[in-house]
Amino acid sequence: LANKKFHPEPTIVKVGNTTIGGDELCVMSGPCAVESAHQVLETAIAIKKSGATILRGGAYKPRTSPYSFQGLEEEGLKYMKEAREATGLAVVCEVTSLAAIEAAVKYVDMLQIGARNMQNFYLLKEAGKTGLPVLLKRGLAATIEDWLNASEYIISEGNPNVVLCERGIRTFETATRNTLDISAVPVIKHKSHLPIIVDPSHATGVRRYIAPLAKCAIAAGADGLMIETHPDPATALSDGPQSLTFDQFDELCNELRPYAKLA
Ligand code: PEP
Ligand code: MN
Repeated sequence: LANKKFHPEPTIVKVGNTTIGGDELCVMSGPCAVESAHQVLETAIAIKKSGATILRGGAYKPRTSPYSFQGLEEEGLKYMKEAREATGLAVVCEVTSLAAIEAAVKYVDMLQIGARNMQNFYLLKEAGKTGLPVLLKRGLAATIEDWLNASEYIISEGNPNVVLCERGIRTFETATRNTLDISAVPVIKHKSHLPIIVDPSHATGVRRYIAPLAKCAIAAGADGLMIETHPDPATALSDGPQSLTFDQFDELCNELRPYAKLA
């Protein structure tokens, strides 16, 4: 179902008032974790001004360590919905369980399946059943074939609204948190009709590498970007070192405008 052979036209996925896969570059941004109502509202207002159309923010955080901040759960989803109502931005949140899906459908425009759950086939099927658009991140050690098979689990539930997200894979390199597999973009474009976006924040873990890789993603043909931003990255509860300030995000969007149509 994800194969281009049987569906030659590119899929355009509608998310809230925006689309992914059309001629506009879809920019999603926001904090790694939802921390407070004020934080997400402030972020939503800032990123919208710069050209983003989707607010991201994790309410359920699948952290590497169980002792790290795990997220505000349903409270966090409420804050995201409030920011959506105040700004008109669409909202995407990660879901990590069936209970999270049941809560999220009340608040969000798009469900995110994180890298660590890419092969949680039960979760993929449940996300598929909601009919909401699904952002499917590539697993840390997943081949492109594994990733497209994961998308089949969602689409085969009757939900064609899948967007793929390349977020870096595990390699021997340690200079960056993961290694951005930029070739995934043209490979997916060759094999599939699904839109693909790139997340240089989780791919690198390092703020200074986000802008050059965002430009690479556009050159490779990506349909969008996911970029983490925070009002004060130094105090962020998660992923501060890879989060941009609002000024840095605005500067990046302006640098991208000669190469891509932004909102
Ligand atoms: C995220 O986007 O919040 C996240 C946890 O990313 P990933 O699943 O790609 O690690
Ligand atoms: Mn993060």
